[in-house]
This record gives sequence, C-alpha cells and structure tokens, in this order.
Amino acid sequence: MLYAEIIIDISAEELDKAFTYAVPEELWDKLYPGVRVNVPFGNGGRKRKGVVIALSTRSGLADDKIKYIDSLIEGAPDIEQELIRLADYMSKEYGCTMNQALMTVLPVKAKVRKNSRRKDAVETIRGIAGDGSECVSGALTEEPEEKAFLNADQLKAVEEIRTENTRPSLLYGITGSGKTRVYIELIRGMQKAGKQSIVLIPEISLTFQTVTELARYFGDKVAVMHSKLSAGERYDQFQKAVNGEIDVMVGPRSALFTPFKELGLIIIDEEHERTYQSETSPRYDTRAVARKRADMCGAKLVLGSATPSLESYTKALKGEYALHKLLSRAHKGAELPKISVVDMRTELAQGNRSIFSETLHEKISERLDRGEQIMLFINRRGYAGFVSCRSCGHVIKCPHCDVSMTAHNNWYVDPRTGRKEAALLSCHYCGYTRPMPKICPECKSSYIAPFGTGTQKLEQAVRNTFPDARVLRMDADTTTSKNAYERILSDFKAHKADILIGTQMIVKGHDFENVTLVGIVAADLSLNTSEYDASERSYQLITQAAGRSGRGERTGEVVIQSYDPSHYAISCAAGRDYESFYEREMSYRRLLNYPPETFMLFVRLRSEDEQTLEAAAKKAAAAAEAYEPEGAEVIGPCNEAIYKIKDNYRKIIYIKNKRHDIITKIREDIMSHAEPDASAPARVYINFDIR
Ligand code: ADP
Ligand code: ZN
Ligand code: ZN
Repeated sequence: MLYAEIIIDISAEELDKAFTYAVPEELWDKLYPGVRVNVPFGNGGRKRKGVVIALSTRSGLADDKIKYIDSLIEGAPDIEQELIRLADYMSKEYGCTMNQALMTVLPVKAKVRKNSRRKDAVETIRGIAGDGSECVSGALTEEPEEKAFLNADQLKAVEEIRTENTRPSLLYGITGSGKTRVYIELIRGMQKAGKQSIVLIPEISLTFQTVTELARYFGDKVAVMHSKLSAGERYDQFQKAVNGEIDVMVGPRSALFTPFKELGLIIIDEEHERTYQSETSPRYDTRAVARKRADMCGAKLVLGSATPSLESYTKALKGEYALHKLLSRAHKGAELPKISVVDMRTELAQGNRSIFSETLHEKISERLDRGEQIMLFINRRGYAGFVSCRSCGHVIKCPHCDVSMTAHNNWYVDPRTGRKEAALLSCHYCGYTRPMPKICPECKSSYIAPFGTGTQKLEQAVRNTFPDARVLRMDADTTTSKNAYERILSDFKAHKADILIGTQMIVKGHDFENVTLVGIVAADLSLNTSEYDASERSYQLITQAAGRSGRGERTGEVVIQSYDPSHYAISCAAGRDYESFYEREMSYRRLLNYPPETFMLFVRLRSEDEQTLEAAAKKAAAAAEAYEPEGAEVIGPCNEAIYKIKDNYRKIIYIKNKRHDIITKIREDIMSHAEPDASAPARVYINFDIR
C-alpha cells in the first residue's frame, strides 16, 4: 500500500495541515512531491485540488478511514512543483521535516499585512547608503557607461562560463578584479534570452558595492531582499518575481527560493562565507541547494570568490566545477598594494610595548600628514578579552556561561546606589552584565584589570597616539542601532574621519578610493581558535582586509602585525599566493582527515541537565560507533569549547566518513536513538551539520 501526504490549496498558512490519502495502483509510479492531484475532501467528499508533499508505505491511520486520491492533474511542472521538489530534497539531505523545508522554500504570505511600504531597489540602496553618499545616489540615475565595460580577462571568463553547459563554474578573482561586471554581463545575457537570475550575497551591508552596481545596471528590473525585510515585504518581492516584473533578485541565502518561472542563472558571490550555512533548521548549505535547484531547472550556477573555500577549489581541481580566474585588478591604474609583515616578537624584544609596531606607527603618521585614510583591523570586539587578577590569576566569568566576561568602556548606573560606575562587564554569549569589580573577589587584591586587545582598546590607543586624527569605530557594539552600519561607512567614505577601526565587518563591501593604508593589528587572533579551519578563516580575513587598500588611483600599502609571521596562513596571504596556501592547508587536512578530504558530521547536543545530556551523548556516540566497520571515525562525546551557555550544558561528537550516504545514515540513527527516557528531568536538543 502507498500513501501520500497532501496539502489542500497550498499557501503558507496551511502548510502544517497535511492529509493522508491512499494512492490508487495506477498512480504508484506517477506521484512525487510537488505533483497536483484531485482528492475528495470533507464530509460530502467534494473534489478539491491538492499537492503531494510526501509519499510513504505506512499511514498511521486505519485503512477504512483513508480516502483514495481521485486523479492526477496533468500539466507541465510549474514553479511551485519545482520548489516543493527542492523542499523534498532538503528534508532528506538535512534531516528536517517536510513542513520545515516547505516553510523555507515557499513564499510565506503574512496573515495581516499592514500597508507595507513598498521598497524598490533604488530606495533600498539609498537607504543603505544613508545620507552622506551622494556619489551613490548619483550613480543610480546615470546611464551605464558601455565603453570598455569588460577587459580581456573578464570577457574570457564570461565566454567560458557561457559555453560551459553542464558544470557549475567557480570564478576565482582577486579582490578588485571586477567579478561584479562579469556577473552583470552574464545576467544581461540571460535577460536577452528571457530568463531570470538570482544573485546571492552574504549580507547586503557587507556587499554594498556589488548591490549598488547591480541596482545601477538593472534599475527597476532588480529587486533587493535584505534580512531586515518583514515577511510581508518579502512576500511582495517574491510576487514581483511570480508576476514577471523583475529579472534579477539580489539577496542573502533565502533569495535562492525566489519563484522565478524561467530561472537561468544563480550566482553565489563570496561563496566562502559562513553565512551560506543556515543555522536554523533546515540547516542547509546554500551552495548545495543552489546546485540542486540549478540542476532541476537547467540553470547555470556560478560561485565567485577572491578566496575560494577549500571545498570548492578542490571540486574545481577535480573537474567537478569549471574554473575561471581573474588575476589582476580591473580598475585602470589600481596597482596591488604592497604588503609587509612585522614580527611583533622582535618589536617587544626591542622594547616596543605598544599596539603599533614602529613600521605601522610611521606609516599611519605619513598618511595623516598627506590627508589619506587608514583602516585598522582587529579580529575581536570589546576593550579587552577578559578581566583577571594579576595577583592570584582569578578570571571573572559569566555565572550562566562558561566564558570569561568582557570589559567595555561604557558607563553604567548602579540600580542600587544610582551612581555612575566606570566600567561594565558583559557576556558576549548571553548578554548578562555586571559592574567591573574594584577588588578581586578571590584574594581581595586591587590588581584586577582588563587584559588583551580589542577594538575599544585599539581605539583608545589610536586616540592617545594620534590625538589629532578623527577616528571611527565599527564593531558589533557600535552598530546595534538601525542604520548605524551605513552611517559609519558613509561618514568614512565622505572623509569625515581619517581612521576607521573595526572587526571583520569592515574588511569588505566598500570601495574607499582614499584608503591607502590597511593595518592588520593582530593577525594571529583568528589563528588561535580550536576550529579545524582556523587557518582558512585567517587566510580569508587577511586577504579580504588587504584588498581594501589602494582601490583608487594611489597605490596602497598593507601592514600585517603578527607574533607568528612564518605561519603559512600569514605568509601566503602576504605573498598573495592562494595556490600555495591551498596546497599547505590541504596536506594538513589530508593528514588529519578533515573536510574536504572527508565528510564530517558535527553532532551538537545541549540540555539543562548535565546527567541527561551525558546519557544522550553516550547513546548518540554508540549509534555512530556501530558504523565503525564501515570506516566511520567517531570522536567524542566531548564538552564544547564553551561547555555552558545560557545555563545549557553542551557536548559535541565528530564523526568522519568518506561516504556521504553513510554519514546521512548515521545522522538518522542518532536521531532515532538519542531520545532521553520519558522520566529524564530535562529535554535534550540535538542539531547536526555535515561538512
Ligand atoms: P571584485 O568584486 O572582484 O573585488 P569589483 O567588481 O568590486 O571587484 O570591481 C573593482 C573595481 O573595478 C570597481 O570599482 C569596478 O567598477 C572597476 N571595474 C570593473 N571592471 C572594470 C573594467 N573592465 N574597466 C575599468 N574598471 C572596472
Ligand atoms: Zn585575586
Ligand atoms: Zn553568559
């Protein structure tokens, strides 16, 4: 017997109401998720139209209660069917329910829609640009200049991508090589052929330049989706696609599900970015789902990056992807910046205890004298890493999480005394705050103080060292208010400040013509994390940060400060040697059997009760160990690097296997084994990532 789960009159509000029908034998090989059928519905058995979302050989209902599907609705597959099939793929691939997958792929119609402000691309871009950036709004009304639109390298890439008819394309182009114009040319070709394109970006505000340029070339034929849109506004954007009002959709990963009828091209810009990995269920990898969608409708998939992920570059080298390279800067006269690496250990040995090496100090002064701009990058926010006692070593920790609290230079009013206190400690994981203690709670000494470096400390140091410089700081703390991000960037662009200090937020997205110096203050910070891909992240960050310098007529310079300058992530980034970096990093991954050399399943478990968690983690590990004869390697369970967050204990299990199907099976087994007993005092939450 075969049963079908059917949704009547599919619309987001009805997605959780699927009905079970029996499938008549003559339809057994004709049904799959997305197919439309006629079914008898309700007491009168009136005929209604429904959509099949899943098939199964079990029903969970008594057979005499189940009605039969009436008939198949013939007709060409439509966009809805395509998206439902995509949801089906996602639910199997990522182990989520069909309902979760459908909610992700189908346009969600909000129940009550207040007269939502309709934003077109131009307005959105203006909103992003803020007020200070006339050049941007000016550019929007200009006619696109046709002259020398593409240089020889760009033309070659376009031609190659166009003639490549089955494989996805990886466009490896250094920062400033003009990948955006390649995208534009490809989209224009699609437009001429009556087809639509989707351009995925990590986040609008981080890829400002790309979005502006697309908006400029495609005018009212492009819609921009950003993460701040309400459900209603998103629905409106999707309706424009359904109605054929637009040819291009630009947005973060959810824009992948734009219901274009004749989708011809999907572009994933900055494909190496982590934001393409969804962090809520379904925890999908945008690149994989995009590939599936492209396959389903015969669209072309293009992945672009200046620092391709190891995974994608490996696929390109194996011939699974076509590889296209842009290895020089596109802007006429824009030379690549000169990069120097400073060994901070030598500086210290020579008695320099400041944040700035002599080289960086000198170069900053030079730029300030010449009226040029500087960007200083540090990979950590806050004033200091942690607060500790220099007498006994005690570290102030968050009572709800297993992390040290971070000092901020903010003022704070003590609710009991009503007095202003000088400093506040906060937990970056749960937001808990407390005043900075004046004496050590352990040994009562007064030698308790913030340690380490961060953006605030760097700002302080800059203000002390260069008192006349105008300084802006951009990190998660200064950008909490709406539009703060845009305001800081447009102020800097309008030269209302000389120095911009920031975290990875500032490393991409903008073309600042007047920036001629980029300082990477502590390049090692991202290397010293416990992640297997720490080197890859560091290489990407350094390369992106360096790419900010010398985007205009003047040649730029980059100074990288490091305590470990011979580390290949730093030396290869400084030498702009992606290939060498790739080789070194891949030999490390091969040696230790890490992705992309193997598939790796991350099983993360959390619970408020430690014993319950421990038992569940053991069960999960045992389920995985059953696959050791199939070559599965199981590591753990071990405590997460931060064992407790928001009063939840956390454990992790890593499972490696060369075969994707085995990894998927293990995940399914863990899901069905790890349920705690009904008597357990707390729930256990599990999530999975496959890399
Ligand atoms: P990427 O995304 O590869 O880092 P962009 O697409 O931002 O690079 O391009 C960098 C700069 O070069 C932009 O200011 C762009 O307008 C300019 N540019 C791109 N292609 C050309 C070209 N063929 N001729 C002149 N300038 C170009
Ligand atoms: Zn102490
Ligand atoms: Zn906390």
